[in-house]
Amino acid sequence: MVNVAQYNALKQQLSNDRVGLVAVTKLRSIAEIQVLYDLGHRVFGENRVQELLDKQQQLPQDIEWHFIGHLQRNKVKYIVPFVTVIHAIDSWELLQIVEREATKCGRTINCLLQVHIAQESSKFGMTDDELLRLWEQEDLSKFSAVRVAGLMGMATFTDNLEQIRSEFQHLSRLFTYLQQHNPRQIPLSVLSMGMSSDYSIAIEAGSTLVRVGSLLFE
Ligand SMILES: *Cc1c(COP(=O)(O)O)cnc(C)c1O
Repeated sequence: MVNVAQYNALKQQLSNDRVGLVAVTKLRSIAEIQVLYDLGHRVFGENRVQELLDKQQQLPQDIEWHFIGHLQRNKVKYIVPFVTVIHAIDSWELLQIVEREATKCGRTINCLLQVHIAQESSKFGMTDDELLRLWEQEDLSKFSAVRVAGLMGMATFTDNLEQIRSEFQHLSRLFTYLQQHNPRQIPLSVLSMGMSSDYSIAIEAGSTLVRVGSLLFE
């Protein structure tokens, strides 16, 4: 069930900070998503392709879908006809595939580069070095159907708030660095970090877009 009070309180807090909300609805029902939609929410995130496709077909067509999970190359074609943002781009090859597939359907997709900031081997994303190499060596402004819009990261799953803070601050510094060392003038505006357990820390560290799921439900 949707926790409406929690949703309203979160929206209020985020609007004070001018931070966007991706309501993460993985494993949640169509009826639950519809409740959030009826409250006026339009930005939803899913992390599995098949689940996203099923939901997208059954729900209102003006929803802004964000794909937030690890994206396999052979599945790009299924989501580019309708997604607005892909959060977890982790290679140059994946960007090129999004460019090719999005071009075929005449769409522009906002792409966030995922950086591995956690001290966990299980999380996806590029290392700092891989990110900087990509940034310096490839021309990310040459695409017509891909708009590189910012960075995304996930902190370590831990109770250690200082560790989480330092990981988010690190990502935030990388984001600022790219904005300032940006010869191709790519308009980087999105810093996607923060989930139910750590979104406040992420906002303090400069997040512009949080991805919150479990907090919205009871
Ligand atoms: C599930 C998920 C979230 C939301 O997590 P909650 O703890 O439920 O808020 C955010 N980002 C990604 C990439 C996720 O997979």
